[in-house]
Amino acid sequence: MEKNLGRIKKYPKIRYDYQSFDYDHLYFAGTLIHSIDFRKSSGGFIHGFRYITRALHRIFEYCYHQQKWPSISLSWFSLTNYLIKRINEADGIYQMFGQLVDVILIDRINRQCRYLEEYPVRLLPRLEEITGYTSDNLLILNMQYGMNYSGAGRDVFAFDRISASVDTADRSNFLHPVLYYYDSPLQEKDFDNVKSGFLPLTSSVRIHHIIENVLTLWMHPDEHILPLRIFLENILNINLEQRTVISYARKRMLQKKLTIPVQFYAAI
Ligand SMILES: Cc1cc2nc3c(=O)[nH]c(=O)nc-3n(C[C@H](O)[C@H](O)[C@H](O)COP(=O)(O)OP(=O)(O)OC[C@H]3O[C@@H](n4cnc5c(N)ncnc54)[C@H](O)[C@@H]3O)c2cc1C
Repeated sequence: MEKNLGRIKKYPKIRYDYQSFDYDHLYFAGTLIHSIDFRKSSGGFIHGFRYITRALHRIFEYCYHQQKWPSISLSWFSLTNYLIKRINEADGIYQMFGQLVDVILIDRINRQCRYLEEYPVRLLPRLEEITGYTSDNLLILNMQYGMNYSGAGRDVFAFDRISASVDTADRSNFLHPVLYYYDSPLQEKDFDNVKSGFLPLTSSVRIHHIIENVLTLWMHPDEHILPLRIFLENILNINLEQRTVISYARKRMLQKKLTIPVQFYAAI
C-alpha cells in the first residue's frame, strides 16, 4: 500500500473520499484519515475523526445503497435563522474546521434551499456524485481561522489579534464562520493552490466573514445577524426582513395607512 512521504509517512496515502490511494473500495476510518488534514484540523483525534466517520457512512449510503445525503429543505426566509442556529450549535464543522462544511443549494426558481450538513470540503467538485444533489448556486459555511493566525514566528498574543469591529470582520483571527457563495459548481482545478482549510477564490465568489467571538457566541443582532441577513439579501436579491402581523401593523400605523380591522388587531 502506498505511503505518504515526509512528515506524514506514518499515514497511508488516501483519497479525499477516504478511499485507499491504490485499492478501490478499501476505505480508512479513525485516526488514519488524519492523512488528509495533518496539522490542519482535528482528524488525528477522536473528537475530530468521529465526524469524518459519520461523513464516511453518508458517502457509503449513496455510493452503495442509493440513499442521498441527509438534508432539509428551507424557505429563503428561514435561512438566516437556520444559519445562526448552525453557526452557534454545529459540532462537526466546528471540530473539523476547514475540512467539513455545511452546503446550501440555492433554488432560485422556488425561493427554496436545500441544507446539507458536514460535507467534506475537498469533495465539493464531486457534490452530485457523492450526495445525489446539485445546484448551480452554492452557499458554503466554513469555520476558519485567520490566514496568518499561527505558525512559526507568529505572535498569537499580538495586541491586534482580535478584530475590533464588524467592518474588519474579515481580519478575524480566531475560529469564526465564513460564508462563500458561488454561482457555478466548483471544479477540481479550482482547489489548485488553495491553502488547506480555505475555499477557492473563483472570479465570481462572494464572501462574508462573521466577526470572531472568543466565546463562540454569534447571536448579536447588529454584529452577527444583521450583516448576515444583508449578505444573504445581496446574493438572493430579496428583502429578508421578517414580518410578523405585529411588526406589519406597527409599520402601517407609522405610515398612517392602517387597514387591519381593529377587532383583528385587538385579538392578537
Ligand atoms: C496520550 C494520548 C492522549 C490522547 N488524548 C486524546 C483526547 O483527549 N481526545 C481525543 O479525541 N483524542 C486523544 N488522543 C488520540 C486518540 O487516542 C486516537 O486518535 C485514537 O485512539 C485513535 O483511534 P483509532 O481507532 O483510529 O486507532 P487506534 O486506537 O490506534 O487503534 C488501532 C488498532 O489497530 C491495531 N493494529 C495496528 N496494526 C495492526 C495490524 N497490522 N493488524 C491488526 N491490528 C493492528 C492496534 O493494535 C490498535 O488496537 C490521544 C492519544 C494519545 C496517545
